[in-house]
Amino acid sequence: MLKFLGRGSAFTDEHNSAYFIENDELVLLDCPMSAFARLNDKNLAIFDHIYVLITHTHGDHSGGIGMLIDLLQFSVKTPITIVAPSKEVEADLFYLISRIEGCSTEWFQLINVEDLNKDWFCCSIPTTHTEELEGKCFGYCLNVKGHRIVYTGDTNTLIPYEKYLEKGAYFYCEVSAYKTPVHLYCSEIHDKIKEYVSSGMKVFLMHMDDEKRILQVMGDTGAELAPLELGGATMEDNGRMLNGIFDITNSLYRDMCMNDSKDHNLLFSYLTNLSKTIVDADRASFWKWDKRKGQIWTMSATGIDKIVIPDNTGLVGKALRTKRTIITNDPYNDPDFNKDIDLRTGYTTKSILVLPVADINGNFIGALQLINKNSEMGFDDETDPKKLSLAALVCGIALESETFLEDSHHDKLTGLKNRMGFYYDFGNKYKDYLIPESGKKMSVFICDIDKFKSVNDTYGHNAGDDVLAFTSHLIESMCSENDGVYRWGGEEFVMVMRDAGIEDAVRKAEEIRVKLMNSDIEADGNTIRCTLSFGCALFDPTKPIEENISHADEKLYTAKETGRNKVCWE
Ligand code: GH3
Ligand code: MG
Ligand code: MG
Repeated sequence: MLKFLGRGSAFTDEHNSAYFIENDELVLLDCPMSAFARLNDKNLAIFDHIYVLITHTHGDHSGGIGMLIDLLQFSVKTPITIVAPSKEVEADLFYLISRIEGCSTEWFQLINVEDLNKDWFCCSIPTTHTEELEGKCFGYCLNVKGHRIVYTGDTNTLIPYEKYLEKGAYFYCEVSAYKTPVHLYCSEIHDKIKEYVSSGMKVFLMHMDDEKRILQVMGDTGAELAPLELGGATMEDNGRMLNGIFDITNSLYRDMCMNDSKDHNLLFSYLTNLSKTIVDADRASFWKWDKRKGQIWTMSATGIDKIVIPDNTGLVGKALRTKRTIITNDPYNDPDFNKDIDLRTGYTTKSILVLPVADINGNFIGALQLINKNSEMGFDDETDPKKLSLAALVCGIALESETFLEDSHHDKLTGLKNRMGFYYDFGNKYKDYLIPESGKKMSVFICDIDKFKSVNDTYGHNAGDDVLAFTSHLIESMCSENDGVYRWGGEEFVMVMRDAGIEDAVRKAEEIRVKLMNSDIEADGNTIRCTLSFGCALFDPTKPIEENISHADEKLYTAKETGRNKVCWE
């Protein structure tokens, strides 16, 4: 329910301060200087109003108020209300704040709890702390998102809080490792806390002078340390994060060793998952920018199917266009946010971070996108991009090498896959067809342009290139989802047809033959006609791939020998 900007006592680095967010309003419990330093990093402009509930006026609880008022006045422009737990404390606070240099009384509103009319507020709870502050120390009882919250502030007794503690309540209790008359000493409250937990309350320990010692004493009570915002992660939190990163990297290596598909998809899926873990987001995706097609699409995504969008749209498009990291913690008010995916899937995007990634020459080629950080304040524009930087760099290098691999499998002139692509596909999409016991059948044909040399000789090499490109596109346009077409070399093409018998291959070859024969080809200013000869064979999985292609090639030879522009088969 509450998150903590610090959970230490007066002489620690991060003094006690908690917050919650309700209806776009930020409610702080106390505002020490160390909490102000954390708030200063955040985008406070997203809040409609900020309330600070004061427990007492000691410096370690209220020292950052003047700075917060200044920040809101001069930079953020969000209104602030300081809430005093009683009229007496209100008077003290007015004296204090109005004398802080540079703080005008017009820049803030100061009220006491009697004038606070909010659904989340129940009451302030007077308690005992130091003698000097007798009657001026308070805790609070709140109602956040339907849950009872009891917050002790500084106290040396649990008694005033007891009547508010009920089953299901969230009890935020101060505790100290060293015995003093002004705080709750851990050994003394140990049994009571254990009893609270076993009676169904959630107990969180805060305002601690020595967390390690407190954990040693309180470890078996079932109480937890008050939850810190990740920005203030403890050694323990960091350790958990490092273990999470190591687990993902370890399984990545293990799975890659067993990955016979030899593509980058596994790597991308691990890297997106890793990024999600590193910044504690709900979803992550990795996008490729296809500059040729003017599109961006997800290479890998958690929680959603593949998405393809034009490259000038959405926040990913904006990050690539502007070459900058984009963060928005209020996407529905961002004109670049594309709501369509939320509308289609019923998901609600609350915060987004997009990090563009570059190749080794510094050209942007893709982007890493994280959605819905598990913190009500959203993504942090300073720390989160830093945390993601290494994963983004590796994604960029992996995407570049994936692109090299893709390029090496394709022929530039025709856009068809080449012989490397052919063998790659045999290791992947056709691999089941190579197992004789699978009962799957497959056919192949090889075809060759007739008298192609004379095209080059008559019209020139450029015209020959145009004929090759035209013929490839024609063959590819007649290729179904189940087929694969490859430029085998020069003016020869191979088609592999899954779940097809020899008669299917012959039929397809015949269709292509007739279609090409009747096509006028515009080639370097000339109109040319060309024909193809074909050799077809049923793929025999007991024989090597090369031998199968040779069978088809023998039939192609027969076609050439017996007049060309024809289909021959085994
Ligand atoms: P056949 O009917 O027996 O197949 O005769 P052909 O002339 O088609 O066969 P040949 O093997 O004698 O000649 C093939 C020609 O294809 C020779 C080569 O220069 C040309 N060729 C191969 N690759 C390319 C290319 O990428 N572009 C162009 N323009 N020509 C190419
Ligand atoms: Mg030829
Ligand atoms: Mg040839």
